Amino acid sequence: GAAGGYHPLDGGTLPDYLAKLENCASILGGNPSEWHVDEVGDGNLNLVFIVRGASGSLVAKQALPYVRLVGESWPLPLKRAFFEHEALITQIDCVPDLVPAVHHYDDVMALTVMEHLTPHIILRKGLIAGNLYPKLAEQISEFMAQTLFKTSDLYLSAKEKKQRNAVFCDNDALCKITEDLVFTDPYRVAELNRWTSPQLDDTAARFRNDAELKVAVQSLKEAFMGRAEALIHGDLHSGSIMVTETETKVIDPEFAFYGPRGFDVGAVIGNLFLAYFSQPGHAGNGQDRVAYGEWILTQIGEIWERFQSRFLQLWESQGQGDAYVAGLFEELDSAAAFAAYRRTYLQDLFHDSLGFAGAKMIRRILGLAHVEDLESIEDPDRRAACETKALALGRILIVDRKTYENMASVISYARQLQ
Ligand code: ADP
Ligand code: MG
Ligand code: MG
Ligand code: MG
Repeated sequence: GAAGGYHPLDGGTLPDYLAKLENCASILGGNPSEWHVDEVGDGNLNLVFIVRGASGSLVAKQALPYVRLVGESWPLPLKRAFFEHEALITQIDCVPDLVPAVHHYDDVMALTVMEHLTPHIILRKGLIAGNLYPKLAEQISEFMAQTLFKTSDLYLSAKEKKQRNAVFCDNDALCKITEDLVFTDPYRVAELNRWTSPQLDDTAARFRNDAELKVAVQSLKEAFMGRAEALIHGDLHSGSIMVTETETKVIDPEFAFYGPRGFDVGAVIGNLFLAYFSQPGHAGNGQDRVAYGEWILTQIGEIWERFQSRFLQLWESQGQGDAYVAGLFEELDSAAAFAAYRRTYLQDLFHDSLGFAGAKMIRRILGLAHVEDLESIEDPDRRAACETKALALGRILIVDRKTYENMASVISYARQLQ
């Protein structure tokens, strides 16, 4: 680590680094030699430190030049820290209460110092524990409606939208991870794939030879690659959401780029369905987890309904962008036609979201990166039973997405599978 150049920090060097930043030092308080550093990164990619001082705490997140989950053999650009910070400050503009505050950003060190969310826990862990989050549906749908509306051509000028899109086009390395791991590898023989074996061997082989499914997934992949609708978070699973009973905060937007809105909505919904199908695997000690599964299904319905109505409301009240120019629909019949069109637009977004939800579910069972909801079910037969149902829903969400008129029908189908 030459002075001034990038070098990974650790518990020894981070306090010296932070001591030089006036605002960070004052949040921590007291003597830097007494600041306590824990490395808590449980994610797949980066270093995350919690630093505690005499008067407060903060989080420092630093990118590594490789994929942490795999090791130095899989290089990954440090520039993802730049995209994460860019996305985070855009989200702060849209929904300041639903993301951590930023204290400091260092481009060379690929490092962001941010608010320490406490006592928040990762939503995925809360769903495994069986906790209820009464504000989750309202707050996560607000996050999605605001960010997916206010970064789009419905709200921004054409020039600004194109300039913002151009900034994020360079995040191609992280996009490629999604293109490969979500949309491609689970449907072919790939070295990094794994699944509960031998229980799911036949299912995995069937998915690799399912022509209808593969065509449908590739159409979703092309939508992911080509449709620059809005700045999407790009990794909005339940491990990127931190919660308390009253607060919801979204973290980890390093995969952000201009893509299809349904990818974010689908990530939330798909991961909630994974949590739902994992519930029987967490039953025990007199708890059957049936009521909790029903609570998850209710949240899925509520998230879609709230997202849809909030998004439409934002469009109606703030649709000042260069798409659908204001004033063009003033006559009564034009206004009615435009209102009907907005409903169709949301229905298309619904179908996209279902398709992406399905793709997100399947990749977590047949691909490289799995989820704790299912991995924590120790008995492989029991886990495979949960995974088989989740795979069945995932497949239907992809191939039949356009036949569903509302989330209630999707939810009844999921309940039938369970
Ligand atoms: P990665 O990109 O490597 O997945 P994340 O941003 O998801 O890293 O962070 C990894 C973990 O660190 C999270 O699961 C969470 O437990 C913790 N974490 C990250 N940011 C914060 C924060 N602002 N406050 C509290 N904990 C955080
Ligand atoms: Mg993460
Ligand atoms: Mg990063
Ligand atoms: Mg990440």
